[in-house]
Formats: sequence, C-alpha cells, structure tokens
Amino acid sequence: MKLLRHGPVGQEEPGALDAQGQARDLSLLVPDFTPEWLAPERLAALAAIDLARMPRVPEGTRLGAPVAGVRQFVAVGLNYRKHAQESGLEIPKEPVVFTKALTSLAGPDDDIELPAGSEATDWEIELGLVIGTEARKVAAADALGHVAGYCLANDVSERDWQIKRGGQWGKGKSFDGFGPIGPWLVTADELPDPQSIPLELKVNGEVRQKSSTADMIFPVAEIVSYLSRFMTLLPGDVVITGTPEGVGLGIKPAPQFLKRGDVMTLSAGPLGTQTQRLV
Ligand code: ZN
Repeated sequence: MKLLRHGPVGQEEPGALDAQGQARDLSLLVPDFTPEWLAPERLAALAAIDLARMPRVPEGTRLGAPVAGVRQFVAVGLNYRKHAQESGLEIPKEPVVFTKALTSLAGPDDDIELPAGSEATDWEIELGLVIGTEARKVAAADALGHVAGYCLANDVSERDWQIKRGGQWGKGKSFDGFGPIGPWLVTADELPDPQSIPLELKVNGEVRQKSSTADMIFPVAEIVSYLSRFMTLLPGDVVITGTPEGVGLGIKPAPQFLKRGDVMTLSAGPLGTQTQRLV
C-alpha cells in the first residue's frame, strides 16, 4: 500500500493511494497513522480495505508527512562514496549517525523557510524508512522485517551551521521544514528490495543529484541493525539513509546554495515526487 496523510498542517487525515493513483480518504476507518498502526497485523488489515469504495481526496489537497506521532528522527551521513569525497571527508568505516529535530518534519511539497541569515542552505535527496516493530540488537538478516515501509526524504542542511559552528550536525539540519518526507509511505511488502530505488533531485529544473540506492556504502538492513545496537528503534521512527553526490556544497569551482524562490523537485521511482519552494 501507499499510505498518505492529507489536509492542512496539524489537521492531516489518513489516506491511501488506490490502484489508479487516486488518493482515497481512510479517516472513517483509521484515526491516524500513529506508531501502533504500523504493526504488521494493522498493515495487513489496511491492505484488505477496498480503496475503490472510499471517498476520493480532492485534487490539489495538501499532503503531510505520511506518518504521525514520530518519536525519533535518525539520519545516516556520508553513506555514498562520491558524496563523502565531494564533502572532503573520509569514507566512513562505520555508519555516521546523527539526529534531526522532530519539528523539522514536514509535508513533501511544503514551502521551506530559509532561516534568517542563512547563506548555505543545501539539498540532500535520501531514501527514508519507517520502523514498524521495535528493533533492539537485531541482526542484519532480520532487520528489514522491522521496517514498515519506505518514503522519499530531503535532508535539508544549512552547511555553515552544520559544519562551522561546532558540536553536532543537528544545528544545521533541524530547522522547521528541513525534513520533508513523503508523499507516501510504500509499505515494505511492495518494496522487498530497497537497494534499487532511483534518486533524482533538480534545482530550478537542473539535475543536481542522480543516483540509486544501489550505491549505498551501508545498505538499509545494515543501517537498521547497526542503529539497533546503540538505541531501541520504536514503531514510527523515521530513519533517513544518506545522500548521493551532487549537493550544493560539492559544486566546483565554488559551492552553490539555495536562494529565496528556488524550487527543488525530487523523484524516487515508486516513492513518488516532492516539490519544495524556498521562501
Ligand atoms: Zn543527509
């Protein structure tokens, strides 16, 4: 299934995409896609719904983040070789882990506000995953069984504040709106192999990032297993898995960053597309 949430900010209602790609409202059957609704038996119950009988979501309705009640937003950095190289950093021997503020989560097409004084706001297309069942010290072979589904993500990053202001990367990655996810969550049963998803990001129509999750250094199963050795991953937790090369920081001869009015368009095959305007 492709699960989504539709409606104004803070008033989103659950829904799903039908076989024709039409969004259908599920609010009569489901309160919201909170963590308990991501358990395998709940997802199986959702899959049994005849979507064609559910009300259509009107064209043009805003979509929010596809899951609600998220408790942890964890990110992996430098998970593609060429991105580590363009960043002038060593290829990591173990996954680089950081967190983004929960308040950075946003809908896939929401405007992104440039923070006051920002001169280095950058883009990062990424594969995101949402945990379905609690994961603690899980083996890589079992890790994908803890994933409810996958979504497209943009790990928007203020490079000066990420890199030059000391401490952890979270300073540059946690502004409101810096974590758009969606448009929908593709449940894991529809995407048994998360390592073959195309990723493409354009800025003002110009292709900046073009890669595939096949190029990850640490694949999704290893990421989930690795994280679960250091923290308990809870249902509903969002994990983003690193960005490929082509970010603004890596542009030669000089980095190029986002300005007011710029438009980012992201696409990732079955995970859908995002469009964000900088305001
Ligand atoms: Zn990232």
